[in-house]
Amino acid sequence: STQIQLAARPTGWPADGDFSNVRIDLSDLAAGEVRVANEFISVDPYMRGRMNDVKSYAPPYSLGETMTGGAVGRVVASASDAIKVGDVVVHQFGWRDLVQEDAAGFRVVPEVPGVPLSAYLGVLGMTALTAYVGLLDVAAFKKGDTVFVSGAAGAVGSMVGQIARLKGAKRVIGSAGSPEKVALLTEKYGFDAAFNYRDGDIAGQLAAAAPDGIDVYFDNVGGEHLEAALATLNDGGRAALCGAISIYNNTEAAAGPRNMANIIGRGLTLKGFIVGNYVQHFAEFSADMAGWLASGEVVFDETVVDGIDHAVDAFLGLMRGENTGKMVVRTHS
Ligand code: NDP
Repeated sequence: STQIQLAARPTGWPADGDFSNVRIDLSDLAAGEVRVANEFISVDPYMRGRMNDVKSYAPPYSLGETMTGGAVGRVVASASDAIKVGDVVVHQFGWRDLVQEDAAGFRVVPEVPGVPLSAYLGVLGMTALTAYVGLLDVAAFKKGDTVFVSGAAGAVGSMVGQIARLKGAKRVIGSAGSPEKVALLTEKYGFDAAFNYRDGDIAGQLAAAAPDGIDVYFDNVGGEHLEAALATLNDGGRAALCGAISIYNNTEAAAGPRNMANIIGRGLTLKGFIVGNYVQHFAEFSADMAGWLASGEVVFDETVVDGIDHAVDAFLGLMRGENTGKMVVRTHS
């Protein structure tokens, strides 16, 4: 099995030398084990935090540990009664082409006609669940709200905007990092307005896009975006703090929003969350999303990088914004 391991703890932006590519011979299957050929592996922003030796909700990777994370593959050998050869399974064993573990570590999923297996890492998986619970539960979205989401052309953000529209938002606004992504937001995902944060003056661009203010901010980015949202949120506004990708590779602490006092004067609620604490909503989410995909009310993009040897490139590309929708690696095992 080819596996990608963390070899050194990155300072700032990770580099190729922080990872090693190792070959591991798999033993014969023990009773209860299955062998899975991965088809797609997930690269996700939270993995950057796990490369640091800092206690967090997800424990840090150890040096010499294979990069664990979401993946989907097909069972090629089985010594388990529960899972058979040919089954499609989702798991958390991460960046490897072949994985061999006890069947209990895998979840069998159905193949949905017309939907690629990679969808289990995005629109049918963790990132879309994050959008769903973050908007509907954490931010307590209600019909008629005006919603702003940053990172809007990414895996989570593109779902937040579409779910807000489907649930009756008055207006949905998104920001992203290129003119192509901004066009996609309004033309494909149904946002009412969008802007390119790389053009600068995020607060000014947001104010122009939201003449009546915003009621909900879904934060994927942190930093200047959060400050702009705090300037624009209406009385009683709510923010779901989902991620802060603008600071993940910082080597020094980021400057805080300078307008925190708006939280007081406007009675705002800012709430951080981790999707892992909301998995009880998975069944409801899956049913809603399956319906929306079948009806075409939700559309999605994926950026596919070919080859497990390019997993690090895919991860760095994700951090630089080279993806539209979910970034995944196709393994060809
Ligand atoms: P995305 O698909 O959104 O990919 C990351 C995107 O971040 C890039 O495409 C890039 O888009 C954008 N980006 C990178 N640097 C910056 C920057 N400095 N300022 C603004 N945007 C930037 O990833 P995900 O959908 O998987 O994750 C989105 C966010 O949600 C992340 O912050 C992640 O940590 C968080 N998350 C949180 C979870 C939770 O449980 N709380 C669960 C899952 C994700 P662009 O071209 O627009 O710059």
